[in-house]
Amino acid sequence: MQRSLISLAVMALLGWSASAPALVAASPATITAAATAAAKAAQANQQVTTQLPRNAVPTHYAVSLTPDAASSSFSASVTIALDVKQASSSLTLQAADLKFSAAAISAGPGKALQQASKIEVDADKQTATFHFAQALQPGSYQLKLDYTGVIGTQASGLFSLDYENGGVRKRALYTQFENSDARRVIPSWDEPFYKATFALEATVPAGQMAVSNMPVTSTTKLADGRELVRFATSPKMSTYLLFFGLGEFDRATSVVDGVELGVVTQKGSLAQAQFALDSSRDVLKEYNDYFGVKYPLPKLDNVAAPGRSQFFGAMENWGAIFTFEYAMLLDPRTATQSDKETSFLVAAHEMAHQWFGDLVTMAWWDDLWLNEGFASWMESRTTTRLHPEWRWELRAVGTREGAMERDALATTHPIVQRIATVEQASQAFDSITYSKGEAVIRMLENYVGDEAWRAGVRSYMAKHAYGNTVSDDLWREVEKSARKPITAIAHDFTLQPGVPLIRVADAVCKNGKTTIQLTQGEFSKDQQDKKPLSWRVPVIAQTVGASGNANAHSSNAVRTVVSGGKASMTLPGCGAVLVNAGQSGYYRTLYAPKAFNALTREFSRMPAIDQLGLLADSWALGMAGQMPASGFMDLANNAPVDAAPQVWQRIADALLGLHDGFEDKPEQRAALDRFARARLAPVFARVGWTAAKDEAAPVANLRETLIRVLGEVGDKAVIAEARRRYAAAATDKEAMPAALRRPILGVIAVNADAATWQQLHAAAKAEQSSMIKAELYDLLGAANDPALAQRALDLALTDEPGATAGASIIRYVANTHPDLAFDFAIAHRAQVDKIVDGSSRSRYFPGLGGRSADPAMIGKLQAYAKQYLSADAQGDTRTAIASIAYRIKVRAQRLPQIDAWLKQHAG
Ligand SMILES: [Zn+2]
Repeated sequence: MQRSLISLAVMALLGWSASAPALVAASPATITAAATAAAKAAQANQQVTTQLPRNAVPTHYAVSLTPDAASSSFSASVTIALDVKQASSSLTLQAADLKFSAAAISAGPGKALQQASKIEVDADKQTATFHFAQALQPGSYQLKLDYTGVIGTQASGLFSLDYENGGVRKRALYTQFENSDARRVIPSWDEPFYKATFALEATVPAGQMAVSNMPVTSTTKLADGRELVRFATSPKMSTYLLFFGLGEFDRATSVVDGVELGVVTQKGSLAQAQFALDSSRDVLKEYNDYFGVKYPLPKLDNVAAPGRSQFFGAMENWGAIFTFEYAMLLDPRTATQSDKETSFLVAAHEMAHQWFGDLVTMAWWDDLWLNEGFASWMESRTTTRLHPEWRWELRAVGTREGAMERDALATTHPIVQRIATVEQASQAFDSITYSKGEAVIRMLENYVGDEAWRAGVRSYMAKHAYGNTVSDDLWREVEKSARKPITAIAHDFTLQPGVPLIRVADAVCKNGKTTIQLTQGEFSKDQQDKKPLSWRVPVIAQTVGASGNANAHSSNAVRTVVSGGKASMTLPGCGAVLVNAGQSGYYRTLYAPKAFNALTREFSRMPAIDQLGLLADSWALGMAGQMPASGFMDLANNAPVDAAPQVWQRIADALLGLHDGFEDKPEQRAALDRFARARLAPVFARVGWTAAKDEAAPVANLRETLIRVLGEVGDKAVIAEARRRYAAAATDKEAMPAALRRPILGVIAVNADAATWQQLHAAAKAEQSSMIKAELYDLLGAANDPALAQRALDLALTDEPGATAGASIIRYVANTHPDLAFDFAIAHRAQVDKIVDGSSRSRYFPGLGGRSADPAMIGKLQAYAKQYLSADAQGDTRTAIASIAYRIKVRAQRLPQIDAWLKQHAG
């Protein structure tokens, strides 16, 4: 699953990128930290967790589904082939919101049929128990169930999405089953370990296209005009990977390595999916090679759907990936370089899951990171390889920051964690599972070498195809191929939480060699006196400048593993010492003052990735009070105007974070804004409003960032030009080309007055494209003016923006006005619950309030959790509270240092 990209898009628009400064970004939260011992015990436990009795296992589901889109309900029957393992008088399956009309079991075709004597439904546990008067002896059976269920309006179970196409209202149906919602459509053993085959048939209106995991084998016209569509039987797989979609769709295909690749869109949007189809071709070839096991299904569709979820952006259903339009389609009117990157990387992520997740699946949600950490790492690796011109390798630092930001709070948890309930599984889809998982894999791959890593992955795939695994199954295979101990390091980073800190003492240079002493501690934002945990940390270091080599890591970099808390390293050359060269390590580096100053002087000679790493560490350590907060400002001040676009994006976003931090201090904010304009305007002057011919792709992203940030820090020229272009766009197509449309609209929306807001509102109403319409509605929530933000909130709860747009608008408002948005959502809680998918409610509210810097919000969040959330659903609330407490501390204790630095460097 791809985490919701709306929140990422929101953040990109308003300056909180995934690599955002900790000061502003309180990405929604986490789960209770499981004790390391407990995680280790879970790992060692051979018996996979289940919430069902262990008396039977399913082998095959034959499902017959008849959806009625107009009445938002469906009727269905399922025949489940199963093996009873112990004599039992009942069978318990998972089921949610289903009504049963019949249940019977037989030992096979032609054998006596036994009706269930009683059907017991437990809504809280989401189970249905079928009792039989005559006990079932061990053996094979067929259980046949007839039932009805509901079609929802939010993305879980079977759900509908309404949209306009050519001015006509349409309704399409889709399913979303991860993590635990297959039970809303099929009574089933709805846990990843219970793999089975699936044969699906559906009765559908004529003229509509039905899509599932496997190809259609037959379509039969029925007497009433409807059609019966049958799909081929799936391979053995987990329930959460089943998919069904139905609507007035278009489909384009392309054959690669004998597999039919498809894209499915609403009618008329196929051209916008061409890039996604081309991307899928490239990625499939790459993965068939990388994994050593060919993609095993006959076809692979990517189904685009209008609307949004607050929980996810795309889902890896085997053979039928589901992706929201905004994360897949490129509309020539609006598509930017970053949209292209998103479309590619989402496809690369979901396709990686076709192996990591679908072919080989974690046994239980404790090891969810095996799916998500790996798919995230693979998405980054593949984007870097197949689009080297995007310089995606530089994003590694931002990904790592996204993880460390959360991992340095006391509320964090280990990558591998004990999951007991559906709620906890849902909350596990967080930046620890995704981004720390990705960063740790990057570090381990770098440690064993990419060839050995791939060999290990290949044998893991071959060995566990169609099966389930735990993390140690992967370590075992990599260790074998690498012939290097990796499991101990992997355990340190996956079974215990937190961020290692490597302290670098002042270096000594003698006879052309530099000796450094390293000690290992722990980086924490809110537990300064904590006794540090112990990690074995792979470290790469080198000298920079003087006789050190400036721009190549390989030539003079030295590796070691810091173990037992300290290490000494001898590096060739003299000069500034750079630790974590290449930035593959998951740890923070704290330099002694002289060593840091030496690096500041050599900043312009360092590779871009290390510039990003140094910026990230100095920011985080400065804000946490472990080095002067001014260190980051010195680097920002020293960055050359021609530094890599990604470096300037990082600096611009950080300055915007400081601008936000000074929200209640106009004088200090004015000083910060002056500095930001002075540094960024010359960079923007080089980049300009119009793309140069043959411009490097990252420059287009930098242009977007600079327009947005300069628009926020009051650059009069940028704001005036954005307004001029916006006004001219009605008559002049060149005024607001696709590449500039979003940043210009962002500046307009953020600085909107009532008349401009109304104009944007009218544009949203009139828009014909479902994708662009949703984006315009989001923008209504971006205004700095609190009165306009309130109007956006009121609008969000009406029917006008559409069933999945309201929650998104409120989230937009929360970026600028978290207290207003949270109070509003709580005051209208019942209504808001209806527009948020059930699986993300316990995360949505803390996500709104978590951006606050008001101490009162902590009490509000506690009250909300106490009243509405079960104990196992409060993880996100705890992290939101920890983030607010940290933000308050930073504003009180660190921002004065920034202000002092600004005064010292004024003029
Ligand atoms: Zn995923």
